[in-house]
Parts: sequence; C-alpha cells; structure tokens
Amino acid sequence: MSAVTVVDPTTEQEVATYPEHGPEQIEAALTAADAAYRDWRRRPVAERAELLVAVAAVLRERAEELARLVVSEMGKPLAEARFEIEKSASALEYFAEAGPAMLADTEVDAGAGRHVVTYEPIGVIFAVMPWNFPFWQVIRFAGPALLAGNAALLKHAPNVSGTALALEDAFTAAGAPAGLFTSLIVGSERVPEVSAQLIADPRVAAVTLTGSERAGAFVAAEAGKALKKSVLELGGSDPFVVLADADLDLAVQHAVTGRLMTAGQTCIAPKRFLVDASVVDTFQTKLVAALEAVKIGDPTEDGTQLGPLARLDILENLERQVEATVAEGAELKTGGQRLDRPGFFFAPTVLAGVKPGMTAFTEETFGPVVAITPFETEDEAVELANDTRYGLGATVWSTDTERAETVARRIESGLVSVNALVASDPRLPFGGIKRSGYGRELASVGMHEFTNIRTFKVA
Ligand code: NAP
Repeated sequence: MSAVTVVDPTTEQEVATYPEHGPEQIEAALTAADAAYRDWRRRPVAERAELLVAVAAVLRERAEELARLVVSEMGKPLAEARFEIEKSASALEYFAEAGPAMLADTEVDAGAGRHVVTYEPIGVIFAVMPWNFPFWQVIRFAGPALLAGNAALLKHAPNVSGTALALEDAFTAAGAPAGLFTSLIVGSERVPEVSAQLIADPRVAAVTLTGSERAGAFVAAEAGKALKKSVLELGGSDPFVVLADADLDLAVQHAVTGRLMTAGQTCIAPKRFLVDASVVDTFQTKLVAALEAVKIGDPTEDGTQLGPLARLDILENLERQVEATVAEGAELKTGGQRLDRPGFFFAPTVLAGVKPGMTAFTEETFGPVVAITPFETEDEAVELANDTRYGLGATVWSTDTERAETVARRIESGLVSVNALVASDPRLPFGGIKRSGYGRELASVGMHEFTNIRTFKVA
C-alpha cells in the first residue's frame, strides 16, 4: 500500500510520511466501529458526556504540541491554531453539559395515550473532513454525534494526516472504547472508491462531508444510491454588504480579519465585498492601507497575521482566479502575485470594479483576495448578494441596524450577521443553503441530524 506525504507549506519541506490504510485495515476499522457503536449506544448519556470532557482535557493538555502540528501541516498562524484547539475543547465541554438535555425524551400532548419523541443513535457515521480547521471541523461533528451514541470513522484530508491520527489518539487517551473514533489514512487517488464503498456498506448509517461542491456532490450521490442520510457543509462566496451609513473603520477592520483568517481559506470568510458607490473609494483606500500593513511571514512567529496557503494547487488556483478577473476588466489595487520566498505565500490582494460574471465574483476564492463591487441602491445590493450559487453566510454593515436587518433578511444564506463577522458557535446552528450544502451542525438541530427522531406512542 502506498503512503501519504505531508509537506510544510511554509518551507515546502516534507513533514512526515504516513502509510495508507489498505482494504483489510479499513474492513477491520469498520468492524470495530460497528461493534463499538452497539455497545456505546447502550451506555448512559452521562457516561458518554464524560468521554467528551476527557477528550477536551487531553486537547488542552496537548494544546501547544497539537497547535504546532497543525501549523506544520497546513500553515495557519500559531495563534489561530491555539485558538482552534481551545475552541474544540470548549465545544466538547459545551455538548457534555448541554447535550444530554437535547437528547432527552420529549413528551407531546397528542390526544389519548402517551406520546414521546426520543432521540436515538443511528450507527457508524462516515465523516469526510477538510484541512482548513483540521481540529474544529472534526470536533464539531464528532462531539454531538458521539454523545448521541453513534461511532465515527474519519477520512481527513491527506495533508493533515498527522492531525487525523492525533485526533484518534486524543480519543484513545481519553478512554474512548476501541473502534469508537477511528481515522483512516487514504490518499486522494483512492478517496472516491473508498468513500463509495464505505457509504454503501450496511454498517455505515450516514455520511457527513465538509469540503468542496465537487466532493459534496460525489458523496451525496453515493448516499442517494444507498438511501442514506447525508449532511453537507460546502463552499461559500459570502457577500459583505457595506451600506452608505456604515462605520467604515469598523467594516474595514472586520474585512481584514474575516478575509485573512486561515490565510483566507475559510468557508465563511467574506469574499465578495459589495459597497455603496458613494463610499466605495474611501472603503477601498482604507482597506488597501490596512492590508498593506499586515504582517506576513512564518506562521510560528509571534504577530504573524498571514501565513502561506495550505498547498501549491490552492496557490495556483488563486493565482489563476486573480489573473482571469484582471483580464476580464477588474482593477488590481494591491497584491496580485505570489511572494518571492519559499512557501505557498500569496500577497493580500484587492480587486476593484469586479462585476457579476467575472471569475472572482462567480467562483469561491480560497485565499487573501478581496473582490469589490459597487452598488447604487439597496435593491441592487440584495440582487448582487444573491447572484451566486452559494448560500452559506453573509454580513451587512450599517449604523442603522434596523435597516441592515431588513437587508439581511432579503439575502439568501444559512447564516447572516449585522455589524459582525459570521462565526461558528456550538450554541447556534451552522450550515448553508443552495450549493453551500444542506443539513446543520452544532446546537440541538446539529445533534439531531444523526439521530433517529422516533415517535413513541403508548395507548
Ligand atoms: P475538498 O477537495 O472537497 O476536500 C475536502 C475533503 O473531501 C478532503 O478530505 C478530500 O480528500 C475529500 N474528498 C475530495 N473528493 C472526494 C470524493 N470524491 N469523495 C469523498 N471525499 C472526497 O475541499 P478543499 O478544497 O480541500 O476544502 C475547501 C472547501 O471546503 C472549500 O470549498 C470550503 O469553502 C469548503 N469548506 C466548507 C465548510 C463549511 O462548513 N461549509 C468549512 C470548511 C471548508 P482529498 O483531499 O484526498 O481529495
């Protein structure tokens, strides 16, 4: 069986090589997961909650080592990696505390007899995850799913294979029963075949995928063939709508934070900046100045705000998108090229005068690129915001919050914020509409995605 090689995006040097799991190891993992599920589902929810608390403690204990592993594999600034580990630990604690009530039986008055809705586990969940938040994406699925009594088989992105194994190890160290949480190392070439086979297997109950539209469509088709539940968290091209009366300094500050987090490789990053024509020049000038002052460099160094992109193919795709958008008539205000140094670095970039139909407007840009489109009226702003196949997040900026809320309600998305960035929070549902996917993660609705919501009647 071949191996997966992880390359450090900052140095372009090899970090480690991991042997792939072959058919026999995958079969053994599946058998173990199925057996673990059958036992785990019978354990009291309080005992399952204890495991989540124990995993949180292991993550905290190992936080520095794990954060450095993440940086070496996908290049986000160390402070962001530390934050991600802490967020993962606290989400596990949140579900340990609040989750049991979400799973408690609900009595319903439905006439004669007793009617109860119960939330029961469904089995082994196959999870396909991306590299951009390699701890958080996994934990936000696994915490609730395992608390509900399911087992998990994780197929992480190959460039975070070390993180995938560290996650499995954290569950083992916390006392998870053998087979309850397993990471499968599978190289990209075998991923479609292995995924299709796992989804079709009767021991797998459902599949969840966070990633691109392409991968989502594949997994959803396989789940459809097998008539199994799927939850998809896919890409986005979130609008950032700046109304004429917005606090421009506040908007620019959040534009920079939102667009540069994880080097711009975030599903809910603002990507299309729709700005009232009367303030667009001021907004652009302030934004260019703020982006030119950003500290770019080694993500392990204190104060670095922007590190490399995670992989060479991501850098090349971003470069293609920027070049195409300029060729289509947009104006390059700053950046626009790779940095002249080792590593997959791309300069913070501002494209002005971007119109619908141009590449940076139509495609999701996964990197530090701001595409600015002016608008004349509120109706036009809403039309532009909705002129996308995606529907993940959106933000509206205005000092008149009532007006901003009215605009926000007209935008098609799963998440929307007024005068704040969109962010995931374990207490709130997270997910998209249109080609950003379906189903929800987090909160009680996320927990219930992988349960059998059963109607019980006793006459
Ligand atoms: P990707 O190529 O779809 O990869 C995501 C995961 O899917 C990886 O583990 C990948 O493995 C796997 N995969 C790819 N093709 C597959 C197939 N045919 N069957 C099963 N699995 C398959 O996505 P990416 O470009 O690395 O990640 C960025 C995308 O994810 C962006 O579009 C971003 O917006 C989206 N995302 C969405 C959310 C959200 O919550 N909505 C959060 C984060 C990211 P390989 O790498 O081996 O192909």
